[in-house]
Amino acid sequence: MSDSLNNIQVMRYNRQIVLPQIDLDGQERLLNARVLVMGVGGLGCHVAQSLVASGVGHITLVDDDTVSVTNLPRQVLFNDASVGQLKVDAAATQLRHLNPDCQVTCYARRPDTHQLDTLVQQHDIVLDCTDHKSAREQINQSCCTYTTTLVSGAAIRFEGQLFVSQFGPNMPCYHCLGLLFTDPQSSCTESGIFSPVVATIGLQQALIAMQILGQFGQPPLGKLILFDALSHQWQSFAVAKSAHCPVCGSI
Ligand SMILES: [Zn+2]
Repeated sequence: MSDSLNNIQVMRYNRQIVLPQIDLDGQERLLNARVLVMGVGGLGCHVAQSLVASGVGHITLVDDDTVSVTNLPRQVLFNDASVGQLKVDAAATQLRHLNPDCQVTCYARRPDTHQLDTLVQQHDIVLDCTDHKSAREQINQSCCTYTTTLVSGAAIRFEGQLFVSQFGPNMPCYHCLGLLFTDPQSSCTESGIFSPVVATIGLQQALIAMQILGQFGQPPLGKLILFDALSHQWQSFAVAKSAHCPVCGSI
């Protein structure tokens, strides 16, 4: 059974509820939504902060890493006192202060395929905020298996990337995208990252996720969106589904 907004929540989220595209119904959908956030680095911190502040009711954070001092310029849920703590624990503490309405669940392990499948089945939408190609492929595979919407974000140097799939007959998946475009293999550790780019892409992921959960507007399904922070250019490309894709080719 779904929860309804109480009077205090109606007041708290008033500025969103007055938007006719969202209204009480959209805000209640957010309250009842279950979001899986894979990776609590720069993208994951901004994603989680925006989702929790905006009134998403359930969020699960997955990350086995601890906070290091080099994370602090981008990973806005952490401070100097967080260094050495598990990222999921430090983030959950901040998020519970930000909005006690949100149930925050921590998963401080790198899930194997079976564990990831279980997590994906327990949630309405998955936000990929990881920075490893292998993890991205694993998440895409699991989301495809259970036709769970995937909102993928990536950021490196001054560049950002977004991709959304809902998996279906005419819908490309993240692996289809990889067949067409070269995914940045190098990590932010070697290549560097400008902190506001991470914020920009993370907030876009949160926006798209809430748009899908709240059922308003037109989310950019099956499109690759690229952001160049040096020239302030956004570009959007329709991605074709690959008929031979080993992940989604048969659906
Ligand atoms: Zn595919």
